[in-house]
Amino acid sequence: MENKSEKIIGIPRAMSFYNNYPFYYGFFTDLGIKIVLSDVTTKQTMSNGSALVVTETCLPIKVYIGHILNLIDKGIDKIFVPSIQSIAPKIYNCSKIRGLPDLVRNVVKRDFTIIEATLDKSEKNHGLYDFLKEMAEPFGITDEKLIKKASKAGWKCYNNFHIMVKSGMSYKKAINYALQGKVFIENQTKEYPISIALISHGYNIYDERTCMKIFDKLEAMDVKVYTSLQLSNEQLDDGIVSLGNEQYWANEYDMTGSAGHYLKDNRIDGIITLTAFGCGPDSLMVERITRKAKRFNKPLLNLTIDEHTGEAGFITRLEAFVDMLFRKKRANIINNIEINGHKSEYIPNTNFIETK
Ligand code: SF4
Repeated sequence: MENKSEKIIGIPRAMSFYNNYPFYYGFFTDLGIKIVLSDVTTKQTMSNGSALVVTETCLPIKVYIGHILNLIDKGIDKIFVPSIQSIAPKIYNCSKIRGLPDLVRNVVKRDFTIIEATLDKSEKNHGLYDFLKEMAEPFGITDEKLIKKASKAGWKCYNNFHIMVKSGMSYKKAINYALQGKVFIENQTKEYPISIALISHGYNIYDERTCMKIFDKLEAMDVKVYTSLQLSNEQLDDGIVSLGNEQYWANEYDMTGSAGHYLKDNRIDGIITLTAFGCGPDSLMVERITRKAKRFNKPLLNLTIDEHTGEAGFITRLEAFVDMLFRKKRANIINNIEINGHKSEYIPNTNFIETK
């Protein structure tokens, strides 16, 4: 139960948590507000959340609702539910992310307070400072200097996290160090025979239950995995342009931006897109990525997840894809060897692109 004199905020371990938690942590902690996180996602979290929304709702939202319920069950009264409308002028999030506080209010009929802050860079008076003010005000903090100081602490933690993931450190390690105020650059000594780019949103791939530990599975297959977190904003902008796009969705950085970059990157042997069943924006973006992947001759596997996705089938598809990448690579090596003055002509059947 909450100690009433303590300032406590509950943060669901879902949605924007996966990209922004280092900032939220630095910000709230600097203001003396204690953070309580929901527990890691389990099957129960998913089914609790699914029970309250219509079946067609995408998995990340079902998971989010499950985490809200988990925080309420822990006795947390104030829960942070941001409405991130647009991240730059006319660059919007999907309607579910934009309307998250309303969605939560309408489906979770329990006794708790939503700390609702709106970030909308397409509208006046909804910029970052206004967003931060709305995060602090419910705790009686209105002093501009304090809020700006906390914002700096948030950015410091966030930037430290990004320095470490960009250097190749795993997401989990980088977040742990960043929250401790540490920055380390790891020497990457292991060599991987195969590299893939994993194209998805943070909330799909860094939630270990949702993604069924895809990083661990690929590591066990000796596959190096790259994501959008290893890229700079300039590289992501360039990636969007190279897919013939203009940015409209806020989450295009995660999807078309990183896909556009990695399709041109010769170190990358194949692309895996991981999308939630029922996600409108992703289905549009994956369609475009799939068409371009054919032109770049990069094998592509599209995995769609929902709460019923079975682990066995998921592993089989990953293994088949990785096996195909190995065969293709071996064939390229063989074809570059001259035997008795003649180039080898071994051509494996690697020409399939899965779309489901
Ligand atoms: S972008 Fe797609 S997966 Fe994410 S919240 Fe919106 S509909 Fe769901």
